[in-house]
Amino acid sequence: MAGTWIEVDLDAVVENYLEIVKQLRSETRCMAVVKADAYGLGAVEVARALARAGCGAFAVTKVEEGLILREHGIEGLILVLGPSTQGEWPKAIAAQLQLTLSELSSIVELNETCTNLEVEHPPLIQVHLKVETGMGRTGFLYSELEALTLALAKAPHLQVAGVFTHFARAASKDKDYTLGQYKHFASFTARLEELGIHPTWKHVCNSAAFLDYPEWHHDFVRIGTLLIGHYPGQGFSGKLKLNDPWVAKSRIVHLRKVPKGTYVGYQSIYRTKAETQLAVIPVGYADGFGVVPHFTPQGWVDFLKIIIKNFAALFGISLGQERVELNGKTVRVAGKIGMQLTVLDVGMLDCALGDEVRIPLRRTVANPRILRRYCRNGLISSERVMEEGVLPLYTEYSLMR
Ligand SMILES: *Cc1c(COP(=O)(O)O)cnc(C)c1O
Repeated sequence: MAGTWIEVDLDAVVENYLEIVKQLRSETRCMAVVKADAYGLGAVEVARALARAGCGAFAVTKVEEGLILREHGIEGLILVLGPSTQGEWPKAIAAQLQLTLSELSSIVELNETCTNLEVEHPPLIQVHLKVETGMGRTGFLYSELEALTLALAKAPHLQVAGVFTHFARAASKDKDYTLGQYKHFASFTARLEELGIHPTWKHVCNSAAFLDYPEWHHDFVRIGTLLIGHYPGQGFSGKLKLNDPWVAKSRIVHLRKVPKGTYVGYQSIYRTKAETQLAVIPVGYADGFGVVPHFTPQGWVDFLKIIIKNFAALFGISLGQERVELNGKTVRVAGKIGMQLTVLDVGMLDCALGDEVRIPLRRTVANPRILRRYCRNGLISSERVMEEGVLPLYTEYSLMR
């Protein structure tokens, strides 16, 4: 009996995918971004479900992520969005991953790797050129265009399948920056074509840009956030009908009635105010529970929120997300969340050892070692555990169970 697990509704992911595809013109395809283990849901199961629904293009950040997909039978286009290293290329080539190039030296080196492969006919490698337009991360600059063209002319084993860029502020209300990035991309690609390089595909849209700029959809939209049922920011909700595929659950493994004034947890920051029951669940920050990304205030309102939250915490009032749901009721975490154990103050609520608790666990920080249970047609269809903490191990179930 699992102590803590995550249920992922694959039908909900597929419905989100179909909702996205409905918005696309016939010449545009959806590239499902399943990086970071499909934002925590599980890259292989999500990609399999989407492939069954007709999705033929996937994107990840790293070569190793692409290899895992191939090893688990995902066919079709797999694009590695991030930089890759020479050591990874032979495997990436063998698995027919499409690679992103974002600096000059890698063009020569990748071509060389291809020449040195011990095969009779070196394959043509499909590459995508990443253009730096304002993300400040990776990509070719406009000033490198001539050199880029020269390098590509000397790299006969590379075929330019795509050219793309990535928006830094597509989810913000201020459109000017994004418009500037797009203009930059448009002039880059125009010049690239003047210089004789004609990429097969162009793609620029992430989830937010997909919703806000239908005229920029081009050949692919690269969608992650919307697929997993999230909106890219405030103001986007309602633009699509999305389903939430994610529920994290734990169960009570210890339950005890305690008197008023009982201290709970490290540093004893919590003290019971009346006679109550304390329930322990086997989940903690090592699983990602209670872990939140560092929040940088974007203005005075944000800054005030932080002050108020910390001020309330000083008086033992938690305004954070540390509340869980037990038998339909909201109950609060008592004291500090531990590494793998958390205490709940459940009051006099009718509950028992083994009862399920729904916990707010952020998808992207949920530990991949936590058991994933995949549901289709409302039933558990497969499970994933990590073999020795590294390799995903899948067990399929018959839906008839
Ligand atoms: C993560 C990522 C995406 C997907 O972005 P979402 O906003 O999650 O849809 C698209 N393109 C690149 C390059 C990315 O890194």
